[in-house]
Amino acid sequence: MSGEGLIANRNGVTTRLRRGTIVCPVCNHDAGIRDSDQETELVKNLWCMCLNIGCGHTFKMQLSFTYTISPSAISRPDLMLPQAPPEFVRHIYPAGPPAPLPDPNQLILFDEAQPLPGKMNEPPDTCAAAAA
Ligand SMILES: [Zn+2]
Repeated sequence: MSGEGLIANRNGVTTRLRRGTIVCPVCNHDAGIRDSDQETELVKNLWCMCLNIGCGHTFKMQLSFTYTISPSAISRPDLMLPQAPPEFVRHIYPAGPPAPLPDPNQLILFDEAQPLPGKMNEPPDTCAAAAA
């Protein structure tokens, strides 16, 4: 478990949240998004209400674009979208050291046939054994 979606309540007990829920900043209870409007092309206002009837907090939050992880296939040169810092881009691993050539543990498949070690190159003698 990555810990994603877990929050610590005031008593220290962690609670698993559904994806897409908002947490009330006052009581840490789930809050619902009651309305939303687009502030700019990259910022959206979320009008929220705490679902804890003992709290009843209503508040506005903003959802904003942070950075691009993988660029879109659609060209929008009018949008100046920042790229993610390299340490936040997932699934990119640094190249390892080059493999020694040739690798002594690999068979050569597409070049000339190489004799295999051991009895695998000898003709099977099961017929001779059966005839005897
Ligand atoms: Zn609340």
